[in-house]
Amino acid sequence: VQPPPSTLHAFRAAVGSVPDRTALAYFDGRLSYAETDALSDGLAVHLAERGFRRGDRAAVMLQNTPHFVLALLGVWKAGGVAVPVNPMYKSTEMRHILDDAEVTAVLCADRTWDGFLRDTAAGSPSVRIVLTAHERDLQTRDDLRVLHGERLGPQQDADDLLTVARTAGRIRVAPADPELTAGDLALISYTSGTSGTPKGATNTHGNITYNAERQRTGLGLPEGATYFALAPLFHITGMVCELAACIANQGTLVLAYRFEAGVVLDAFLEHRPAYTVGPSTAYMALMAHPEVTRDHFASFRTMSSGGAPLPPALVEKFRTGFGPYVHNGYGLTECTAPCASVPPGREAPVDKVSGTLAVGVPGADTVVRIIGEDGRDLPFGEPGEIAVRGPQVVPGYWRRPDATAEALPDGELRTGDIGFMDRDGWLYVVDRKKDMINASGFKVWPREVEDVLYSHPAVREAAVVGVPDAYRGESVKAYVSLRPGTSPEPAELAAYCKERLAAYKYPRAVEILAELPKTTSGKILRRELRHRA
Ligand code: ATP
Repeated sequence: VQPPPSTLHAFRAAVGSVPDRTALAYFDGRLSYAETDALSDGLAVHLAERGFRRGDRAAVMLQNTPHFVLALLGVWKAGGVAVPVNPMYKSTEMRHILDDAEVTAVLCADRTWDGFLRDTAAGSPSVRIVLTAHERDLQTRDDLRVLHGERLGPQQDADDLLTVARTAGRIRVAPADPELTAGDLALISYTSGTSGTPKGATNTHGNITYNAERQRTGLGLPEGATYFALAPLFHITGMVCELAACIANQGTLVLAYRFEAGVVLDAFLEHRPAYTVGPSTAYMALMAHPEVTRDHFASFRTMSSGGAPLPPALVEKFRTGFGPYVHNGYGLTECTAPCASVPPGREAPVDKVSGTLAVGVPGADTVVRIIGEDGRDLPFGEPGEIAVRGPQVVPGYWRRPDATAEALPDGELRTGDIGFMDRDGWLYVVDRKKDMINASGFKVWPREVEDVLYSHPAVREAAVVGVPDAYRGESVKAYVSLRPGTSPEPAELAAYCKERLAAYKYPRAVEILAELPKTTSGKILRRELRHRA
């Protein structure tokens, strides 16, 4: 099936065929496809009237709220490029993004604007349009009233996003069709920064619709299915596997502000979603919630984990305790989310030697190679760098020809991940190249040790890093958080690993923390732990 040129095309098709179907559900509030269309038209008209032109960049810095979706569609309808930004970012990170992307418009929560962004943006001459949302009002059940006009407040130097959307949307001045093509830039996605300064990956509309269409056809979900946005929409996994895939399937997207296990479980019961995708840490948090039951997951046709390692022990604990089998998926910002996934109805094998769970098989039209330092293909089973070529791979980084040439020689993405492929075509991710620990000259991949820790019944989260060691150069240290009601000694956890791993791999030190540091997209931050040691 040929995907449409852009998600806007898919959205318009849904508006045409199911105008009254709920597009967005948020606590008690709902917006139909037709309403979402009118409101985002309003934003597009407003942006255009203020001089926002085709190809201009707009930062969208919002949580999983209807505002996010309206802002994104509004920017695309105005022919612009959205720069989704983590709302937890602070001034320094935002300054880099505003300047690097030469952002013209900012769409964010009013408290973000008042909190620091006004001052930050003051130093960025390109910012000319600001739309803010009363996001804090959208955290309770009847918050969606604001979308229907009962709660509007004065803004000093920013326009209220929803007032603008409603006003222009009501007069129904349709914005001029930007006539997007598959090659047009849809997003500049700054990598989440688990390693170094963020660079802007340039995802085209074609990159997105290719992966969204694969999700639509590959997951076996009925047309119009309900998707739950577990991953944040500002992250590529949420953007593509939840939002764009849901639109492609003319489905309903359930939003719940940001991940909070209790709220998510309530929303599962209320909306009975058929599909969700989130990082493995979200599954860990749901499993650890005191009120979680099997019934919370009864409506799911399929569930996926993506964007972070999935320990095989977690898949088993989840299936035994709650029913669904969690499908693994491997992707990067530069692959516009997944490039390999576990097909529905199949189960990923576990590698016998390393105990690693396969991440999936590459999608059709996607070529994954495992390459050595010289760029040549390595044989089956041998670990090397994962390289990806396919319709979802970005053309490059925003205004960074150096980084583009390095990461995308000839358009083939060098992922920086080490992995291997088995004879049946399953791909395994060993770890990030740069996270390898060198203990007395032996290579230790943190993932392998983490997978063992996760198989311990008391372990909720685990992260393994290399710490300086006068004798070995580096030694292996594990940080763990525990499941409620358990209290193993650190030495017991180290001994557990020692029984199961080669002598140079088991952690010489184990430290127990209440919670491991994570990015807001839910990934455990090994970097931060490394600095802590
Ligand atoms: P930065 O690029 O700044 O380091 P980031 O790598 O977290 O940030 P993303 O593009 O969100 O940015 O993450 C992609 C990375 O996540 C992959 O390169 C890989 O290391 C890891 N990853 C994704 N899916 C999986 C998976 N299923 N199993 C193991 N690792 C995964």
